[in-house]
Amino acid sequence: MASYKYSEDVCKVTSDEFDEMYQPGSATPHSGIYNCKGCGQEVASNKGNPLPPQSHHQHAVTQGTIRWKLIVKTV
Ligand SMILES: [Zn+2]
Repeated sequence: MASYKYSEDVCKVTSDEFDEMYQPGSATPHSGIYNCKGCGQEVASNKGNPLPPQSHHQHAVTQGTIRWKLIVKTV
Protein backbone atom coordinates (compact mmCIF):
# COMPACT_ATOMS: atom_id res chain seq x y z
CA MET A 1 0.00 0.00 0.00
CA ALA A 2 1.32 3.44 -0.88
CA SER A 3 2.28 5.52 2.13
CA TYR A 4 3.28 9.06 2.99
CA LYS A 5 4.65 10.88 6.01
CA TYR A 6 3.34 14.43 5.76
CA SER A 7 -0.30 15.06 4.94
CA GLU A 8 0.56 18.50 3.55
CA ASP A 9 2.35 16.74 0.67
CA VAL A 10 -0.84 15.14 -0.67
CA CYS A 11 -4.45 16.23 -0.94
CA LYS A 12 -7.63 14.18 -0.91
CA VAL A 13 -9.85 14.42 -3.97
CA THR A 14 -13.04 12.69 -5.09
CA SER A 15 -12.36 12.48 -8.86
CA ASP A 16 -13.96 9.59 -10.75
CA GLU A 17 -10.61 8.72 -12.36
CA PHE A 18 -9.71 6.95 -9.10
CA ASP A 19 -12.67 4.57 -9.58
CA GLU A 20 -11.72 3.37 -13.08
CA MET A 21 -10.02 0.04 -13.79
CA TYR A 22 -7.38 0.20 -16.51
CA GLN A 23 -6.34 -2.74 -18.66
CA PRO A 24 -2.74 -4.03 -18.65
CA GLY A 25 -0.79 -2.53 -21.54
CA SER A 26 -3.23 0.33 -22.08
CA ALA A 27 -1.97 3.92 -22.22
CA THR A 28 -1.55 5.44 -18.77
CA PRO A 29 -4.28 8.08 -18.48
CA HIS A 30 -2.70 10.07 -15.62
CA SER A 31 0.85 10.01 -14.23
CA GLY A 32 0.92 8.43 -10.81
CA ILE A 33 0.89 5.23 -8.79
CA TYR A 34 -1.34 2.34 -9.82
CA ASN A 35 -2.34 -0.68 -7.79
CA CYS A 36 -3.20 -4.10 -9.24
CA LYS A 37 -6.66 -5.00 -7.96
CA GLY A 38 -5.85 -8.69 -8.22
CA CYS A 39 -2.83 -8.78 -5.89
CA GLY A 40 -2.10 -5.28 -4.59
CA GLN A 41 1.21 -4.83 -6.42
CA GLU A 42 1.97 -1.18 -7.11
CA VAL A 43 3.70 0.54 -10.02
CA ALA A 44 4.46 4.11 -11.01
CA SER A 45 3.59 5.02 -14.59
CA ASN A 46 3.79 8.23 -16.61
CA LYS A 47 0.93 9.56 -18.71
CA GLY A 48 0.96 8.13 -22.21
CA ASN A 49 3.31 5.24 -21.43
CA PRO A 50 1.77 1.76 -21.45
CA LEU A 51 0.69 0.38 -18.08
CA PRO A 52 2.53 -2.88 -17.30
CA PRO A 53 1.23 -5.77 -19.44
CA GLN A 54 -0.54 -8.94 -18.34
CA SER A 55 2.88 -10.67 -18.27
CA HIS A 56 4.19 -8.15 -15.69
CA HIS A 57 3.60 -10.53 -12.77
CA GLN A 58 1.91 -13.83 -12.06
CA HIS A 59 -1.48 -14.26 -10.42
CA ALA A 60 -3.11 -17.26 -8.84
CA VAL A 61 -6.30 -18.21 -10.69
CA THR A 62 -8.37 -16.79 -7.83
CA GLN A 63 -6.76 -13.35 -8.28
CA GLY A 64 -8.06 -13.00 -11.84
CA THR A 65 -6.38 -10.80 -14.41
CA ILE A 66 -4.26 -7.72 -13.79
CA ARG A 67 -6.48 -4.64 -13.45
CA TRP A 68 -4.75 -1.33 -12.70
CA LYS A 69 -6.41 1.31 -10.54
CA LEU A 70 -5.07 4.81 -9.96
CA ILE A 71 -4.30 5.33 -6.27
CA VAL A 72 -2.04 8.42 -6.25
CA LYS A 73 -2.11 10.98 -9.05
CA THR A 74 0.90 13.22 -9.65
CA VAL A 75 1.00 16.56 -11.43
ZN1 LIG B 1 -1.46 -8.35 -9.63
